[in-house]
Amino acid sequence: MDPDEKPEDRQVFCSGCQQIFSESLVHVIPYFNSSVNGYVTTYRCEQCWIPALEETRARLASTQDEAEIASAGTFFQRHGVHIHEFMRGDPASVVQKILLRMIDLLRSEGIRISIGRDHELDEKSSAALKKL
Ligand SMILES: [Zn+2]
Repeated sequence: MDPDEKPEDRQVFCSGCQQIFSESLVHVIPYFNSSVNGYVTTYRCEQCWIPALEETRARLASTQDEAEIASAGTFFQRHGVHIHEFMRGDPASVVQKILLRMIDLLRSEGIRISIGRDHELDEKSSAALKKL
């Protein structure tokens, strides 16, 4: 790994329009995948991410399937966003409400999930980047 390489340098495939974008333009969101019957990580470009996230939100809001709700909790955990109520095993209906809030935060960009760990910034670099 080259420490000078910025995440923006990576090229990312959008699963919506099937084109390639710079990582800085790509959003990492949960999206339901019927072959695994749960939410998986998907990359979407600026044009595609809101409609996809709305589909995810609508689906998550209407499900009562505990495994499906848990898979959304796992998505966030996998990306380093820890929800205590999910981890300690609160009822699915409680976790579901929190997850919907997390989806809203993704949408408002109150949180933004980054791709992969290989280019994850250390604290010093992220602090420096925030000043830019
Ligand atoms: Zn796209």
